[in-house]
Amino acid sequence: MIKNFRRKLFRSSFLALSIMLASCNAKAQKAKTAPKEFAVQKTEAEWKKILSPLAYHVLRKEGTEGAFTGKYYKHYKNGTYHCGACDAALYQSQHKYDSGSGWPSFDQAISNAIHYDVDYKIGHRRVELECARCGSHLGHVFEDGPQETTGKRHCINSAALNFKSSDKSQ
Ligand SMILES: [Zn+2]
Repeated sequence: MIKNFRRKLFRSSFLALSIMLASCNAKAQKAKTAPKEFAVQKTEAEWKKILSPLAYHVLRKEGTEGAFTGKYYKHYKNGTYHCGACDAALYQSQHKYDSGSGWPSFDQAISNAIHYDVDYKIGHRRVELECARCGSHLGHVFEDGPQETTGKRHCINSAALNFKSSDKSQ
């Protein structure tokens, strides 16, 4: 019994340590390798030139727009939400729902459209969502999404998105 318990304890502390090391590594690696990771590459000066000040702040400086202020918070038209920086298709309107959080919320993204990263900006671990094509910041994912689908809440800044309607009458 004791032996078993010890083994379990050892295993769980080893796991915790590996997770800690892995997250530290992920952070360090990001700083070192980020410029080579993404298919679309621009200098910060180039991004600044093509983006609005708010879009630049959110997409390139990991900023957050005010809750309930974004243009897509209460937006439920049919279509696709694209990256505001490089135009990659990221989210489909049928996966958007009202989370009451004040930001556009989706229970899932278009597959392979999102790059997941970790940040500690507000003191605790959060999973950051970036565009997989250009690395621009979109928002964060939380575990309080709709239970009947994925249980995930992709909390995205409107300023990071550009909506394209699929409705032909518009
Ligand atoms: Zn992008």
